[in-house]
Amino acid sequence: MKPMQREVLNYIGGEWRRPLSPAGIEVLNPATGELLAVSPQGSAADAEAAVQAASAAFPAWRATPPAERIQYLFRFKQVLEEHFEEVARLITTENGKTLAEARGELRRGIENVEVACGIPTLMQGYNLEDVAGGIDEFMFRQPVGVVAAITPFNFPAMIPLWFLPYAIACGNTFILKPSDRVPLSAARLAELIAETGLPPGVVNIVNGGKVAVDALLDHPEVQAVSFVGSTAVARYVYARASAAGKRVQCQGGAKNHVVVLPDADPETTTQIVADSAYGCAGQRCLAVSVAVTVGEARGWFRESIAAAASSLRIGNGLHADVQMGPVISQASRRRIEDLIAAGIAEGAVAAVDGRGVSVPGLERGSFVGPTVLDGVPAESSLTETEIFGPALSLIHAADLDEAIAVISRNSYGNAASIFTSSGAAARKFRNLVPAGNVGVNIGVAAPMAYFPFSGWKSSFYGVLHAQGRDAVEFYTAEKVVIERWPKYWSRKF
Ligand code: NAD
Repeated sequence: MKPMQREVLNYIGGEWRRPLSPAGIEVLNPATGELLAVSPQGSAADAEAAVQAASAAFPAWRATPPAERIQYLFRFKQVLEEHFEEVARLITTENGKTLAEARGELRRGIENVEVACGIPTLMQGYNLEDVAGGIDEFMFRQPVGVVAAITPFNFPAMIPLWFLPYAIACGNTFILKPSDRVPLSAARLAELIAETGLPPGVVNIVNGGKVAVDALLDHPEVQAVSFVGSTAVARYVYARASAAGKRVQCQGGAKNHVVVLPDADPETTTQIVADSAYGCAGQRCLAVSVAVTVGEARGWFRESIAAAASSLRIGNGLHADVQMGPVISQASRRRIEDLIAAGIAEGAVAAVDGRGVSVPGLERGSFVGPTVLDGVPAESSLTETEIFGPALSLIHAADLDEAIAVISRNSYGNAASIFTSSGAAARKFRNLVPAGNVGVNIGVAAPMAYFPFSGWKSSFYGVLHAQGRDAVEFYTAEKVVIERWPKYWSRKF
């Protein structure tokens, strides 16, 4: 097959422009090692051009009635549906996840477009007549201006769609800085939104790495910044953009736990936890990383999860029978394998060891096999390290209180789940566990688009989260108006 090598261009003011910066990293198909494209390093000049285009588009877009703005989103939804399979294949090609996972990602992204179509209702303020005699008070929501989103590699289409639809439906103009490791899906989204006839400059894409990000964080005309990625970069972006006076929401990394109680249903629990740990090769911010087995659950769960992990078919995610694709890069593969080795050196036992796997015909692919590390000691470096790969740690707790204490000690708070048939245990768990996305007999506690994506602790910096009503609040400024019209007001009726 002819390689699909292509240049990664910026989308600015409705035009595809060659980046002004030198070449940056290579975009490789993680399953085959094939070169797909080369990302630019990014430059302040490229970012400046995107901000100028977004600023120029803002006055007219802000004045476009919300009911008209959402017509573009209705059309965008339609175009995404028409190109659904093609975009899903592109996601798999540049990210590596299976086609089923890519379809799931795109479906969840489209849900956000659908929710943002409700903006004429969602964006309403409130009011009260006669706050004092003849004086009325109103709260309007207004767009904030030019907003930017910086997104990670693991959901190349869905995470940009956590932000883009709400931002523009609220009347802002938008700049996306996609991950330089997966820029192609985002570019395709821009091509598709252009088909809706959206005015130039309302949506822009500027590619690159840190240089492009810094230019957006510092730019005085960028009013709001959304970020999704690792915790170290989330903290950095939050500090720098806040210092520049912007509103900021930064979603960071994760170390998600599931608690398996002895009364959990073994079959469904194993199947759901395996999907959570090994789906997307463990590269989901909601992937379970640690299973805390309580009491007698230890024995049966260790056996069943090891059997489930060993049976997964690994390969190119484009092939229908493949259940787990590669990780994003060879560097990532090496990092994950080193962490597995560190866990074993610190006392864990590899019930299943996915290091060193090779897939026939895909020798240049970045594959790590599903791994189960049993008995990871509490003091192991793994307990605080986000592996972001298909490696599940098992630890044991005497009871539910001890399991909740294990989770509470962790610095991350993205998600936590419990598997049980006890309503009382589930209630206690959801009440006490310090995580923002909680699952009860759910392995990947991913909020629907009309709920906030609620990370806590070092998984999130900010106040308002992505998606739903939080997104509308984040992308709008509240304006309170107090009105009196003395000439027409009289106490005598
Ligand atoms: P990353 O932090 O390396 O990159 C994220 C974005 O920041 C990319 O666009 C990248 O180009 C940019 N970037 C990287 N280094 C930078 C720097 N020094 N200065 C400025 N910008 C920089 O993250 P990743 O590896 O692409 O994604 C995986 C991480 O994202 C994991 O930690 C995962 O848990 C997290 N994640 C979190 C959520 C969530 O909702 N909390 C969702 C998805 C992914």
